[in-house]
Amino acid sequence: METGLAGRRAAVAAASQGLGFASARALAAEGAHVAICGRSNDRIEEAAARIGDGAVPLVADVSTPDGARRFVVEARDALGGLDVLVTNAGGPPPGTFATAPFDAYGPALALNLLSVVAMCQEAVPGMQAQTFGRVVAITSISVRQPIPNLILSNTARAGATGFLKTLAREVAGDGVTVNSLQPGTHATERIFEIYGDTAAATEGIPAGELGRPEDFGAVVAFLCSDSARFITGAAIPIDGGAYAALL
Ligand code: NAD
Repeated sequence: METGLAGRRAAVAAASQGLGFASARALAAEGAHVAICGRSNDRIEEAAARIGDGAVPLVADVSTPDGARRFVVEARDALGGLDVLVTNAGGPPPGTFATAPFDAYGPALALNLLSVVAMCQEAVPGMQAQTFGRVVAITSISVRQPIPNLILSNTARAGATGFLKTLAREVAGDGVTVNSLQPGTHATERIFEIYGDTAAATEGIPAGELGRPEDFGAVVAFLCSDSARFITGAAIPIDGGAYAALL
């Protein structure tokens, strides 16, 4: 399949490891010029070196809207424009209704909702002007089925999904698609931190294994391709069949 990604300019947030890194690597493998960010200079430089193909490492913290916006500005400056934006960040700390204090909600919303809004506000108008753009947001299967003990993440990502769907319909006529991908359980550092071992994390996945970050990255690349031009406003689970409901 011809993706049309060769020469496209892509900003991928929070990409020193895990799903962000895999997304950036998949886009670069299709010939896109990528700029990636993380909070540590050493780690993001090492990630860019692993991607190769002139990947641009940027130090940025997307846990605040200002930091998120700055990343997009710096990526666009470094790449000479922007055709693709992959929004991503870490996840907020665990907690339940009983254990998560009110003050924890603000930072969680900044990390997983407001940073998405800020990155889109910075990137999308230019995409509309050039009548081409692809936004892919990495959210979570928790949007469909809230995950126990992750009340902060569950709350923020539902809001982000509402924002993205609204945005998608507003800019569809300008050649810009906006979709979100909902990871179930993939073999990344975050999952090892939460579950400790892969056996516990694999429970309840009909496919019988954790998702591979590189498979996730391949879907990101497809959604950013020319072939995916008619897919917008979608929120797509990538979970090995773990989500059991019809819709
Ligand atoms: P990860 O912890 O393995 O990697 C996260 C990356 O983001 C790292 O490179 C980290 O340095 C970077 N990062 C974290 N906070 C940042 C910040 N404030 N600014 C810049 N960079 C930052 O996580 P992952 O498994 O790749 O998950 C990516 C996202 O998807 C997270 O929001 C996570 O909660 C969500 N998610 C992941 C899974 C999964 O199965 N891995 C499932 C559901 C949701």
